[in-house]
Amino acid sequence: MGKRIGLFGGTFDPVHIGHLRGALEVAELMGFDELRLIPSARPPHRETPQVSAADRLEMVQRAVADLPPLVVDDRELKRDRPSWTIDTLESLHAELGADDSLYLLLGWDAFCGLPGWHRWEELLEHCHILVLQRPDADSEPPEALRDLLAARSIADPLALAGRGGQISFVWQAPLAVSATQIRQLLATGRSVRFLVPDAVLAYIHEHGLYRATN
Ligand code: ATP
Repeated sequence: MGKRIGLFGGTFDPVHIGHLRGALEVAELMGFDELRLIPSARPPHRETPQVSAADRLEMVQRAVADLPPLVVDDRELKRDRPSWTIDTLESLHAELGADDSLYLLLGWDAFCGLPGWHRWEELLEHCHILVLQRPDADSEPPEALRDLLAARSIADPLALAGRGGQISFVWQAPLAVSATQIRQLLATGRSVRFLVPDAVLAYIHEHGLYRATN
């Protein structure tokens, strides 16, 4: 039997307990062999203070160093341009076995934006999509996704079968933490202890990341 591999992308600027708890819960629910955290490349001047791709990657590596089945996949940072998800899926399949299956994890907001993604209609040829939904959410999908959902969604995520092509939902209460909040706390000299793993906290302090730059 092939491996079942979850994919969880993000800027991880920095990775925090919300990402890690969410990923771990989905991995356990789904019985994934691996859940790959995939830090995304980002335009160099989006935010200040700046944290390099190498720092973001190192923090994710430290966060999952002893946390199977969570692992890091750095392929999007190795390219010299931001990667389309379709490219990432194709490059993963080029390395994996023919029986392995991919599960792309997307928050509801990201899922709703799917029709704007490059070659989005081909995504399901390469993976299943697991939409992470909040228990209290009451959201209507955009028109462009209604037919797709009607044709492809199934109620039980554990029933996703084959190499791809289906959509299911995982209901999950996210922890009230965001990378934005963590950057703000650090910029004002406050503690982020317990919001990030201690190994990530140590890295942030060792390298003086996210400090106010004035
Ligand atoms: P920022 O505050 O900089 O926008 P973020 O904390 O939302 O960052 P991202 O790296 O943008 O983190 O998110 C990567 C993925 O993690 C997204 O799919 C996002 O929905 C999810 N995510 C972010 N915060 C949480 C959380 N607290 N619990 C569960 N999932 C989360």
